[in-house]
Amino acid sequence: MTSPNCRSCGGSRLSLVLSLGETPLANALLTEEQLTQPEARFPLDLAFCPDCSLVQITETVPPEQLFSHYLYFSSFSDTMLHHAERLARRLIKSRQLGPGSLVVELASNDGYLLQFYREAGVPVLGIEPAANIAEAARQRGIPTLTKFFGKEVATELRSGGQMADVVHANNVLAHVSDLNGFVSGIAAVLKPGGVAVIEVPHVKTMLEALEFDTIYHEHLCYFSLIALQALFTRHGLSVVDVELLPIHGGSLELFVQSTGEPSAAVRKLRAEELAMGLDRLDFYTDFASRVQALKTQLCELLRELKSQGKHIAAYGASAKGSTLLNYCGIGRETLDFVVDRSTVKQGLYTPGTHLPILAPEVIMERRPDYLLLLVWNFAEEILRQQQKYRAQGGQFIVPVPAPEVI
Ligand SMILES: [Zn+2]
Repeated sequence: MTSPNCRSCGGSRLSLVLSLGETPLANALLTEEQLTQPEARFPLDLAFCPDCSLVQITETVPPEQLFSHYLYFSSFSDTMLHHAERLARRLIKSRQLGPGSLVVELASNDGYLLQFYREAGVPVLGIEPAANIAEAARQRGIPTLTKFFGKEVATELRSGGQMADVVHANNVLAHVSDLNGFVSGIAAVLKPGGVAVIEVPHVKTMLEALEFDTIYHEHLCYFSLIALQALFTRHGLSVVDVELLPIHGGSLELFVQSTGEPSAAVRKLRAEELAMGLDRLDFYTDFASRVQALKTQLCELLRELKSQGKHIAAYGASAKGSTLLNYCGIGRETLDFVVDRSTVKQGLYTPGTHLPILAPEVIMERRPDYLLLLVWNFAEEILRQQQKYRAQGGQFIVPVPAPEVI
């Protein structure tokens, strides 16, 4: 369903910034039997709201269709685990959390963050809509509700006396179709003096580093601090602190409370965003032509390598890989296969492009000349893991911000 209204403020003046055409759902991996069946495609258009500065896609695919078989198990990434452990330790200390506290995580995945609280004796509750992932969390001892968080669930928790000292929402806000319901739910479930720690990718980085492949149907909003402040203020919440994280190509970690003044870091970032023009349409207008130029460069590079008889595969059957391959029209004529560490993805095929997903061990068996890196956000980690392949002459192609062979 396409909405003409802003997801945050409801304004009706959305301006189209970039169209990536009609693409299949980025996480809808296919079984071999499904390869011959038609795939659902949806428009992937990015728009800017001049009223509240929120960048967003206009299409909303029903969440049940998107999340029921969501295959991203966070524990498969070392980078994410280390970040989660540090964050938990820091909050346990600064908030003096103990057996009488409660930490609630929204979209808690397989419990990879909450496990660090539980190990320290702090009661936890996960809320995770994907049934298979919620089950994985329960199996490792993390109490988890299989639900979509919103006002309703928050009210149930509140009336059951389950109010939170800390609410975590890592990389979920951008996936929520009812933004206002979600944020009012956070306000309802926080204890007085409690804090919500919210991580979202920063739209500034996406635009500057040409990370257009982070756009896909599950990812509805692309936040600036300015747009977030407008959203939280509407629900009586205030951003009291912010940190910039390198994770996912550039993210904001926000500390949100019902009371308290913005820190110097919040005031500084807001001033920077306003100075750059993140609140004005003209900041976004050349994004589409820069993305188009990247596509041309990448396709030319791959064509050139294929004409030299090179074998090319890809690393990372990720959602962003799906956007990149489908938008650029790169499929089996160019890439032999894609590898992924996630065992639940192996044996399946990529949406739209139908590349077989294999285990990373295959790299050393088949030795492609090049690997197109579709998870550039984990570049450092993957390049380290693939030292042997590289030492034997294998090379990586990093597609953004400009195609580069390393
Ligand atoms: Zn708006």
